[in-house]
Amino acid sequence: MEKIKMTTPLVEMDGDEMTRVIWKWIKDILILPYVDLNTEYYDLGLEHRNETNDQVTIDSAEATKKYGVAVKCATITPNAARMTEYNLKEMWKSPNGTIRAILDGTVFRTPIIVNGITPYIPTWTKPITIARHAYGDVYKNTELRVEEGSKAELVVTKKDGSEERALIHDFKGTDGIIQGLHNTDKSISSFARACFNFAVDTKQDLWFATKDTISKKYDHRFKDIFAEIYENEYKAKFEELGIEYFYTLIDDAVARVIRSNGGYIWACKNYDGDVMSDMVATAYGSLAMMTSVLVSPDGVYEYEAAHGTVQRHYYKYLKGEKTSTNSVATIFAWSGALRKRGELDKNDALVKYADNLEKATIQTIEEGVMTGDLEALSSIQNKKKVDSEEFLKAINERLAKLM
Ligand code: NAP
Ligand code: MG
Repeated sequence: MEKIKMTTPLVEMDGDEMTRVIWKWIKDILILPYVDLNTEYYDLGLEHRNETNDQVTIDSAEATKKYGVAVKCATITPNAARMTEYNLKEMWKSPNGTIRAILDGTVFRTPIIVNGITPYIPTWTKPITIARHAYGDVYKNTELRVEEGSKAELVVTKKDGSEERALIHDFKGTDGIIQGLHNTDKSISSFARACFNFAVDTKQDLWFATKDTISKKYDHRFKDIFAEIYENEYKAKFEELGIEYFYTLIDDAVARVIRSNGGYIWACKNYDGDVMSDMVATAYGSLAMMTSVLVSPDGVYEYEAAHGTVQRHYYKYLKGEKTSTNSVATIFAWSGALRKRGELDKNDALVKYADNLEKATIQTIEEGVMTGDLEALSSIQNKKKVDSEEFLKAINERLAKLM
């Protein structure tokens, strides 16, 4: 078979630990035999980030803006322990945070569903994609402890120097706490557009919820911005595709999500998304079956797995032991990126390859060949736990037949 050609490069961001090991195996076993891979390679492994003073992370994000599509391996976010382990010059920031800030993107997380692994909510037969607004609110807060007898106020100093004040609370007879939050119309609008675009892209309904009955100015602003952008920019497109934009209160949304069959995008404010994405991921079974894509408002895509570098497995691997690390989310990051590249370049062969890669992966698990994390969850008879490399080879046996 002649290898599939790629006209435009894909931005490849390599990473750390076990996922870095698997990254290479995925390419060698599942991609390079079929695709004449054309990537612009950036090594985001912690050692190289340290050598380049993290410039490589910035460069990789700029390249993503230029070419439109990237695939990223999981990376270490340094903490005190990593400072010594890697002898770092500085505690470099989270690469995902840096990339997200440059691309101004929204993260969409989608579970990969396979037969034989039943979600804890058995009615969830289709995936629920969570879109989390990744700016502001409690994540950029200012908070204070307040002494008894104090009066706390919100003060806004305007351009002309005049002040607007509102009482938060008179602390009589007890100490307390206060917190200041903000968001911006610009960021909320970007978030809304990213969600509407993704709904159009994947032809799924979009749900959005806040607590606007209680938060009549703050949360209400989110509701209004979404409604305005929908009316003016997306309504016609949604109607043409037969998909729906649905707004409700957050508590009503939670109740409806539990009763639903899935198959929609759930846009969440920052905190709701943080909490609900962990709940949804757990309910679908395994973090290793969760894909993630960062979509910028101007249509740039960065694909990755939702899990981290699987450090515990890496230390076993370094000791020469076999691991049974699940590569599915990382495979789907590659297939997602290659499909998007194919769609943008009108490269049908590449799109078909990406579809086949996903099909072969799911088929492998549904035929009972899986990694340890899934074996513990699967209800399939005659299931067999395999190691990381055997799993990839088993996928390739099926992929070869599909190609
Ligand atoms: P993690 O790498 O996601 O792993 C946590 C645990 O979840 C693992 O020990 C493993 O459980 C299980 N697990 C996760 N992915 C798996 C897979 N593919 N196959 C099988 N089991 C899997 O999270 P972490 O240990 O908290 O973080 C490790 C490093 O990753 C940190 O340095 C962190 O900064 C980084 N991180 C990066 C990203 C990213 O780049 N997007 C995201 C999160 C964390 P068992 O050990 O029980 O088998
Ligand atoms: Mg969380």
